[in-house]
Formats: sequence, structure tokens, C-alpha cells
Amino acid sequence: MRIPTLWEAVREAESDPRYSEELAHHLLERIRSMDPSLNSFIALNDAAPEQARSLAGVGPLHGVPVAVKDSISTRGLETTAGSRILRGYVPPYDATAVARLRSAGAVVLGKTNMDEFSMGSTGENSAFGPTRNPWDASRVPGGSSSGSAAAVAAGLAPAALGADTGGSVRCPASFTGTFGLRPSYGRVSRYGLIAYASSMDQIGPIARSTRDLAIILSIVAGRDPMDSTSSPAPLQDYMGALERDVSGWKVAVVKEMVGPGVDDHVQREFWRAVDTISGLGVDVEEVSLRWLDEALASYYVIASAEASSNLARYDGLRYGLSPQQSGDWRSYFAKVRGEGFGREVKIRIMLGTYVLSAGFYEELYLKALKVRRLVTDELSLALKRYSLLLSPTMPVLPPRLGERTADPLSMYMMDVETVPASLAGLPAISVPVGRAAGLPVGIQLVGRSMDEGSLLAMSARLEEALGGPAPIASPRCSSPPSKYQVILASLHLSTGDKRSPSPTGIP
Ligand code: GLN
Repeated sequence: MRIPTLWEAVREAESDPRYSEELAHHLLERIRSMDPSLNSFIALNDAAPEQARSLAGVGPLHGVPVAVKDSISTRGLETTAGSRILRGYVPPYDATAVARLRSAGAVVLGKTNMDEFSMGSTGENSAFGPTRNPWDASRVPGGSSSGSAAAVAAGLAPAALGADTGGSVRCPASFTGTFGLRPSYGRVSRYGLIAYASSMDQIGPIARSTRDLAIILSIVAGRDPMDSTSSPAPLQDYMGALERDVSGWKVAVVKEMVGPGVDDHVQREFWRAVDTISGLGVDVEEVSLRWLDEALASYYVIASAEASSNLARYDGLRYGLSPQQSGDWRSYFAKVRGEGFGREVKIRIMLGTYVLSAGFYEELYLKALKVRRLVTDELSLALKRYSLLLSPTMPVLPPRLGERTADPLSMYMMDVETVPASLAGLPAISVPVGRAAGLPVGIQLVGRSMDEGSLLAMSARLEEALGGPAPIASPRCSSPPSKYQVILASLHLSTGDKRSPSPTGIP
């Protein structure tokens, strides 16, 4: 069976009531045979074909399957955020984004692997073992929505939901040659999203074409009474945006984001894409943003501070890992958190607690908030003159597994291009524009708040100029999965049925 884009699948399903069921069946088989070497799924919905059959007449999606990042709550399907501490947690309700997809006729195919609690940029910080890049299995697929992007790139799902705090949709989209959209802060409800850094967390789609992103955004976007931070701002016509002409638009390349520190291969592909954009009749200028240098430090201080508070709720009493109780409450909590959290999560909790502690709060946390304000003001000023800001999505090509894990700082540095939009709450998209040494390169477009339409319009024109939807990965070399990965994959390819309360940040 040919692997369709989301749009193609929907069209087929409209004319053939058995198509979605067959597709779901085919994808489950494909996952079982291909995923042991990629590790992009950590739970599968075996009932997907049957559910697809029952949704055959339900529009607009007609039973077409999609994958969902494991930090997004799915009723009846284990949701762990890639952490040991949530092993066995089965949400009693759907996140709003998932509920909206289901009522639009989508079926959840399975839950995708991710960096634990969304902390990471390579997909290696998962308690379920690392995900691999389908274009080259010796390399990382990016993170933290590693499994969502790898699954889409490998043709294991037509589209997927990810979540982006500081780049977690855009980074893996760029590293796997897929399209990834981070909507504006407040555009998509976070009800049911397991919180990492609440002032920046956003759910966003990953797919093989701009049209697919627009389809998902049209369904999940909009005010939700269950999330008071969701915006009442009116929605745009995202499907209509795909037809917009971009000639005459004024956009700017952010000078500091293409300079030293950006890999030569990435620069070459980036400038080639900029030429393509100019060829569309777009006026491309250059803008210099003075506070960008400080954005990365500000992001890591703020994200860690919020994480230390959000993750305080994992105490082994309410959900997930709960070993035999012994000793006093202090030693019990220490045991649960010591065993349940991975190394990177512990680093972030310690860092966050430190920057919030008396004596350092003003010097570190408050200073980071001030920098955030400066970055936000500077970006919004630039976006008064330009419709979009352009940069590479990632400064490097996908690293090899293990290359960045020994040194967390070198991992944090990879987020330098993506965190500014996060700090400012702006929408951003990663568009696959080329290949260097066989590896995908993405360009990032940042837009005005609540103007996802312009991102989709430019992405659609660029996609068209570059030859249409992204191809499915054909691995160049594959290193076999470790024994550890195979065991973990088989342990988690099943669903549980334990019911417990919600670990999301929103009551
Ligand atoms: N890599 C960044 C971090 O670890 C961003 C992750 C994200 O967007 N969730 O914080």
C-alpha cells in the first residue's frame, strides 16, 4: 500500500469507506516491522483499524490515523511523557487537541517516543531508549518530539501531534525532513498536555506537507474553556492561506542567526532557500537583533524554573510509579523521584530550584525575565516592518547518537535558533528545504502572533517551488537496535488500563 500524506488519505477515505481501516491496519504492520530499529512508538493502539471502520463516515478526517506525542493525554492509552515515573499511567480523559481530532474523525494510532518530560533536543533522554533518525539510523532525529517526527518521516503515520516549548516540534521536523508548526502561545489548548514550562508549552503538528499542517491546525486551534490560557482571538482561514500569493511581501533574514556557529552545509542550504523565496517575488532584507545572544540563557533559566515547579507533583502517590511504601514521607519521595526521573530531568529540577531560591532569584530568574521582555520587544518591532523572519531551524546537521549527551551545554546550544520565538510566544514553522551529506536541512519562518496563516502561505509556496510534499525516508545505513531497545519496545507495545488523576499542569 502506498503511504499517503494526511490530505491524500482523507481524500481516499472520502470515496472509499474501507480505506482508513486498511490504512490503519497497514501502518500497524509497518510499525511492527520497521519500528524496532527506529523506536519511534512507545505504545500502540491495537484497536485503531476497528475504530477507523466505525469513523468511516465521520468528517472531515473519516477515520484516518494520526500519531500523538506521549506527553499529550489520550484516554485509555498509556501516557508517560517518556518517563519511568509515569509508567502505567493511563489518562481517564483526552487532551483537548486529541478530543478535537477524534471528533473530527481521526483515530489515534499510538503514542510516540520523546525526551523525558520534553527536556532535550535529540530524542536520547527517553526512559524508553533513544529514537533514531530514519534517514540515517546512526544519527538522532531531534527532540523532544523525536518519535512524532521520525514516525512521519519513515511513513509510519501520515501526520502526528508534537509539542514545542523551546523548539521541540521544529527541531525534529528539521532533522527528519518534515514540516513542523509551533502555533502562537494560546492558539491551541494545552488542556491534557503534560506540562514542562507552562509559559511556553504549545501543541503543534508534524507532517509531510504544509496542507497537512493546515488541516490539523484548523481542527485543534481555538479557545477552550478548559484552558484559561487559550486565546479567544479569532481563527484565520488556514486552508485558504495555502492559496495566498506571497509576491510583494517583505521578509528579513536574522543576521545573528546565520553567522558563525552555523554549520557550513546548513548555511549553504539556507541561502539556497532564501534565493527560492526571492524568486517568488518576495523582498528579502536583513535585520539585526541585538538581544538574541542572551535568549538561550534566558530560556534555560525560565524553562528550568517552571519545570522544577511543574514536576513537584510527581510524588508516587497520585499516579505512575509507586513502589512499596516504607520509611517516612521524605525518604519515600526521595526514592520515587530518585528512581523515576532520568538524569537530564534531575539536572533541570536542580537548576530550576537554584535559580528560584532566595538570594539567586533576583540575580538569575528576574534577570532572565527581563531579557525575555527585551527579546520579545525586539522581535515584535522587527515584525512590524517584516511579515516574517527567516533563519535556519537548527544550526547543525543531525548529530550522531551519543555525540551530545556527555555535555548538556552543547545540547542546549543547538536550540539557539528556536528559543527566541518561544520566549516571545510567536508562531514558527520549520520547512524542509534541502539536504547536505544526505541529511535534511530546514528553514525556520517566524511570524506575528496569531498569524499562522502567513507562515502556512509562505511554507506552501516554498514547498511548491521545491517540488511538493516531503519524501518518505529511505535509510542510508541502519545499525541494528540494541538488545535493550528491543526488550523495551516489546514491553511497551501494549496498552494498560489503570485509571488515575491527571498529571497535566491545568486543573
Ligand atoms: N531542547 C529544549 C529543552 O530541552 C526545548 C525542548 C522543548 O521544546 N520541549 O528545553
